[in-house]
Amino acid sequence: MRHLAALPKAHLHVHLEGAMRPATLAELAAEAGVPVPQVRGFGTFGAFAEMYVAACAVLTSEASLRRLVDEVVADAALAGAVWVEPATYIPQHRELLGPDEHVLEVILDELVHAGTRHGIGTGLLIAADRTLDPADAVAQARLAVRHAADGVVSFGLHNDETGFPPEPFAEAFDIALAGGLLSAPHAGELEGPASVVGALEALGAHRIQHGVRAVEDPDLVVRLAAADVCLDVCPSSNVLLGVFPSIADHPLPDLLAAGVSCSLNADDPLLFGPGLLEEYVLCRDEMGLTDCDLAAIARSSIRASGAPDALKARADNAVDLWMAADAEDAVA
Ligand SMILES: [Zn+2]
Repeated sequence: MRHLAALPKAHLHVHLEGAMRPATLAELAAEAGVPVPQVRGFGTFGAFAEMYVAACAVLTSEASLRRLVDEVVADAALAGAVWVEPATYIPQHRELLGPDEHVLEVILDELVHAGTRHGIGTGLLIAADRTLDPADAVAQARLAVRHAADGVVSFGLHNDETGFPPEPFAEAFDIALAGGLLSAPHAGELEGPASVVGALEALGAHRIQHGVRAVEDPDLVVRLAAADVCLDVCPSSNVLLGVFPSIADHPLPDLLAAGVSCSLNADDPLLFGPGLLEEYVLCRDEMGLTDCDLAAIARSSIRASGAPDALKARADNAVDLWMAADAEDAVA
């Protein structure tokens, strides 16, 4: 059996703060003099979002933010990622860490250094919050574009999809696209196919974070495959938030069979449990995906990432080598 940690891949759907190591959360809470936030046991998106905010509250210093960034990059490297593209809504750190521009510069600086230390490529996805005024999204898009040369590679749309459709954020995404960023909004998770259509038509999506409920509309699945839009899929997150009842019921195999590009991701490992590598293992063990399927997913993740072309070409060749390895001889 081929070793999945050795399969080169990109981690494209991972919320920076939601990827904090549990031990780091406990240590930073102690340093900040706050109780360790409870981060498991939610049943609804609202309860989940509250826990996310609680986890953010332990980031009270530049050093703690740098530690988080370094560990997220280290964990991606350990899972066999050659590229990691964490996502964040910068203003959530305003109160504890200062102005947006400063917080962003710290994250970008640490991403570069951590990438060098751990031997992988890094980029940042700047997100807007869909529950706020679209004018704030425009401000985030402008912030993101100003730092496109320093490591911001993509623009997203976070928070509860329910009641907050994509269309009002078209202006922000126009600015991001004009600035050369990839469009990677959340859609098709808590809302159905209409939100995926909105992400495509109003936001020019290159990637859709989740997007899995597109499966409810066969014509939309055909359209996603034809347009080569990548769905940044997170199976454990979907099951734990009740989008699908179990891993066995997850539509990822159907989407792959229909020719839709999909990447595999952990979303918020602090809150959901499994990390990037565990998601690949889960899909092999419980979804029945073959090494050929998993290699195709890894290739899609690399191709759809914000990584430089040279890194993409090297990683794609490395996937060929992984597939060529004699499966009998490879370490389990
Ligand atoms: Zn997400």
